[in-house]
Amino acid sequence: MNCLEARIVKDGVVKEGNVLKVDSFLNHQMDIDLMNEIGKEFYDRFRHKPINKILTIEASGIAIAYAVAQQFHVPLLFAKKSKSINIAGDTYTAEVESFTHKNKNTVVVSKQFLSKDDRVLIVDDFLANGCALQGLISIVDQAGGTVEGIAIAVEKGFQVGGQVIRNLGYHLESLAIVESMNHETGEIVFRRKEKE
Ligand code: 5GP
Repeated sequence: MNCLEARIVKDGVVKEGNVLKVDSFLNHQMDIDLMNEIGKEFYDRFRHKPINKILTIEASGIAIAYAVAQQFHVPLLFAKKSKSINIAGDTYTAEVESFTHKNKNTVVVSKQFLSKDDRVLIVDDFLANGCALQGLISIVDQAGGTVEGIAIAVEKGFQVGGQVIRNLGYHLESLAIVESMNHETGEIVFRRKEKE
């Protein structure tokens, strides 16, 4: 069991509707030592790639993406959720449906900060149905850049996102893959390596 899995078992709370709350260490209050460990682990997994930019989506992806960007010494860019598209004039946009809030957001990135020369590592806290990732991938595509890899802290393996993204051919690494979870008992089962 890695340090993120252990922390999820200790402090994660399983809610109804397939939501895992990690507010005490990842999404609301943040454990900075854990964040740094996550940053180092993703650096180890992707260091052989020519990554020159980290891309995430506000708000909860930013802290993990910061820890990763600190290891790579490259800029961190985050897609903004915006109703009024008004940052720096020209933007790449994507529609993203929020799994937790059940609403749709237009996410935007200024064209100023993403180009065909960018080799991007996409980072996010959770992967559920894959909408957030598909939006970020689309934004990199619009810029003509390259998605070198995708780094996810917690993948919910019982939802379709992981399979969809892997089937599209992307190199996706998730630190903790939840195979199943039960909001009545609180039990959380992780996918083990041999099944990956
Ligand atoms: P997706 O777009 O893959 O369906 O959902 C991913 C996004 O929804 C993540 O950026 C994350 O913020 C949020 N999310 C999805 N599932 C969970 C969950 O179980 N717990 C928390 N805290 N956030 C989640």
